[in-house]
Amino acid sequence: MKPEPGSATALHPLELSPTEAVLASCDGAELVALLSAVTHDLVWDWDVQARQVIYNERFIAALGEAPSEYPAAHEWWKSRAHPEDLAHLKKLYDAAFAVGQSFLAYRYRILNREDRYVTLESRANLLRDASGQLVRVLVISRDMSERQRAEQAQARLTRILEATTDFVGMASPEGTCFYINEAGRKMIGLTEDEPLSLAVAQIHPEWANEIVFKEAIPTAIRDGYWKGETALLHRDGHEFPVSQVLLSHTGVDGTVEFISSIIRDLSDRKREEIARIEWANRYDAAIRASGQVLFDWNSFNNEVTYAGDLERMFGYNLVEMEGGLNRFRQLIHPDDLPSFDEQVQKTLATRDPFQLEFRIQHKNGPYIYLEEKGYFFLDRRGQFGRMVGFFADITAQKKDQLALAEAHESLEHRVAQRTAELARATTAIEDRAHQQEAVAELGQRALSGVPLGQLMEQALKIIRSILRVDCCSLLAMTIDSQQFVVRAQLGWPDAQNDNRFPMGTGSQSGYTVMIGQPVVVDDILKERRFVSSRLVLNTGLRSSVSVLIEGETKPLGVLIAFTRDLRKFAPHDVHFLQSVANVLTAAIQRERAEETVRMAREQAEEASRAKSEFLSRMSHELRTPLNAILGFTQLLELEEPTPNQIESVQHISNAGKHLLSLINEVLDISRIEAGRLALTPEPVDVPEFLQGSLEIIRPLATRHGIDLIFEAGPTAGPVRVLADRQRLQQVMLNLLSNGVKYNRPGGHVKVSYRDEGPQIRISVTDTGLGIAPEKVARLFLPFERLGAESTDVAGSGIGLALSRGIVTALHGQLNVESRVDEGSTFWVTLPRTHEAPIASIRAPAPASSASPAVAEKADPGKTQVILYIEDQDLNLRLVERILSPKPQYRLLTAMQGGLGLDLAREHQPDLILLDLNLPDMAGDEVLRRLKSDPRVSAIPVLMVSADAMGDRVEELIRLGASGYLTKPYKLTEFMRVVEEALGNS
Ligand code: ADP
Repeated sequence: MKPEPGSATALHPLELSPTEAVLASCDGAELVALLSAVTHDLVWDWDVQARQVIYNERFIAALGEAPSEYPAAHEWWKSRAHPEDLAHLKKLYDAAFAVGQSFLAYRYRILNREDRYVTLESRANLLRDASGQLVRVLVISRDMSERQRAEQAQARLTRILEATTDFVGMASPEGTCFYINEAGRKMIGLTEDEPLSLAVAQIHPEWANEIVFKEAIPTAIRDGYWKGETALLHRDGHEFPVSQVLLSHTGVDGTVEFISSIIRDLSDRKREEIARIEWANRYDAAIRASGQVLFDWNSFNNEVTYAGDLERMFGYNLVEMEGGLNRFRQLIHPDDLPSFDEQVQKTLATRDPFQLEFRIQHKNGPYIYLEEKGYFFLDRRGQFGRMVGFFADITAQKKDQLALAEAHESLEHRVAQRTAELARATTAIEDRAHQQEAVAELGQRALSGVPLGQLMEQALKIIRSILRVDCCSLLAMTIDSQQFVVRAQLGWPDAQNDNRFPMGTGSQSGYTVMIGQPVVVDDILKERRFVSSRLVLNTGLRSSVSVLIEGETKPLGVLIAFTRDLRKFAPHDVHFLQSVANVLTAAIQRERAEETVRMAREQAEEASRAKSEFLSRMSHELRTPLNAILGFTQLLELEEPTPNQIESVQHISNAGKHLLSLINEVLDISRIEAGRLALTPEPVDVPEFLQGSLEIIRPLATRHGIDLIFEAGPTAGPVRVLADRQRLQQVMLNLLSNGVKYNRPGGHVKVSYRDEGPQIRISVTDTGLGIAPEKVARLFLPFERLGAESTDVAGSGIGLALSRGIVTALHGQLNVESRVDEGSTFWVTLPRTHEAPIASIRAPAPASSASPAVAEKADPGKTQVILYIEDQDLNLRLVERILSPKPQYRLLTAMQGGLGLDLAREHQPDLILLDLNLPDMAGDEVLRRLKSDPRVSAIPVLMVSADAMGDRVEELIRLGASGYLTKPYKLTEFMRVVEEALGNS
């Protein structure tokens, strides 16, 4: 409310009315003190002549300390007055001074001591002395702000009273109304302009007046306040329920001045209340019917209100459940309490709707499952939370759920069990099939002849992968059966092949052999039947299985497998391991059998070699002296002996020749047996060849008076066999000579052949005594003469044995058909060939000639030098004797190869005779050196040997030999070959 500064207001008369002159002459301080004592106003006085301003205490209290002398006091006032009002006041005062006005009234705003503007309503007395001179200005001001506030407050109160919907009235203690607000008037049916002259008793019905007058008013007078329910009476006569408050108001002296009453119409509230009660009852009924319990927890006072059949649910009644949330928590199952508290905290924090399940203990003991569902609210001030919701007993449901879950779980468990069983069964079947496959494969490898060592390693690999073990070994028993040797091993940290393990309880393998059956060890650390090896323990192995590798008479070894994990080896694991062992048994036994056969063969071969060696040496040793005998016999023949001597020489010669052929035959047999008989198969024309053989034998046949018959085969075209011509000759001559020898006087020998498809059969039939069937089997054994040894017929019993050997080596057959007293037919079959015989590939004849290439015609007058390198003194002397009658030849001799080489280089001989067997180096080596030395390489060399050289001839020719001579020398043959080589023939 903005004052109108300086406007003239209706002034209340001051209580003082001194004359201006009196006042002007007064002392300022006294005047101010006086005025202060009689008014509540702010007073100040300005003594113009003394230039002094005096303020009363109220002024100082309201506006603060101010300077007391003029003009500082005036400046202070100006600085505090509202600038808008200041100009107006100046005008006012200037006018007053100008016209000599003595009184001014105005309003203005000024800052109080709290620097807030207050409106002062002021009256100024401008006092003059008798001469009209201004003596003093006395100003009395009143702070209008407080009054304005009081007036405003009252107006507001009145407005509130008038605006309120409650009945507000005031009455004297005696019961006469003097104020009723608008709402009150309406309530009791009073019109607005109707004068208010009512007794309190008139506005209440009779029964209510009883309360009002006997209880309410006396209580209010006594205590200052009464509250209760009464009723009001409307002008139309109807009464209605009200709540009523009475207040007594006392005066300064303590007596009750009046009584005020605030009355509220309860008609609607009552109805609502009734409705609410009805609703509450219905609500409660509904809750009870639902079997749920409603709760309402107030977080401020921790109280919980319940509705519904609490007792039925918990067993406790409302009284027993008193104690708020803490009491409720006592019932909760300890296991569920943490999650309950957590949910409460969460709901308080998030204010989300909540739902949780927990167990509480019923008064009777058992726990029941509760479901709690509800909402969170804040109180009106938004400070304290309330959780409101329902409890539902879900025990039965929970039990069903649990039972269902249990049933489900057990069903799932059973399904899982069955599935696992099925999987195990499938795996087992697969495993078994896998195992059988592996064993079968191993068996196949064994049969295919994989070396045993390799087979053992494969067996261990299979064992490791199939049984899924960490280590496995194959231990073989030593020959003395005293210990084991590791033959193969897999998975061990260190190679331990050839480690040895003891028998008996000293090792699992030993124990396996001892009890003669598989051993399964579930835990090696707990094993008491035997002692495990340090290696097994150090490797950290825990379970094992071992089986025997059985032999025919005794175990051959043990197969053993280990795992680092604890494992129970099943019977089928053992069975598998045993199957592998059985495969190995067969393989080991086969290896041993093969070993035995191999050793036997080696021994036989060794014996055979020794025999051949012996025979070869012996024949060499025999032939050397025989050579000398025959040689010197020939020399004797040359020296014109007497007839007696001729006969003796003839005997010696015959005996020597016989002995020589015998030696040669023995040598051949030994070569055949050793598989070393050198053969040169070539196409041989059969008719031509047989006729040639007959011619050779003819002198013998003639001597025995036996006819020789050749029967040509019916076959058209050439008949040829593939055979070594010389050896076949040997066979044919043997058969023909036998036919002649074992014939009867006047008998005959018939030779025939016939075509038998892929082979040709040659038959020699005689008319002799025949051979008894029981003797035929022995016919082809060496040195077997079947009684002929006691007759005049010469023979050694080697011929047929050698012949069969030769024919067999030529891929043919030799056999006999014989009838006692009628004669025998010996037949030979040989593979047929259609190739034509080639003369050029013929091997040189045994007593060969020198190569024509080196033979040049020598100068007849010149002495020719022959170097003979030979270690046998007898042979040297023989050749000396042969050449001594021939002065055109000079003989040089050397008994060692080295010396021979030196002599050759020194003397440049015309011919070198070189023996194959020399003490310092082999004859072929001497030949090689001769031919590689340009000084002597052109000199022809004839190789000399007591051995039939056979397959070596070609090689020697290739090395550069011109030809060869076989000892013993036949004199004429010797000279012919030598002269040919020297180019003298
Ligand atoms: P050898 O004639 O030197 O005794 P063989 O090996 O040629 O040796 O013959 C072995 C033996 O077989 C002869 O000793 C002889 O008893 C017998 N035999 C060989 N050929 C005939 C034959 N044609 N008729 C009867 N017996 C024969």
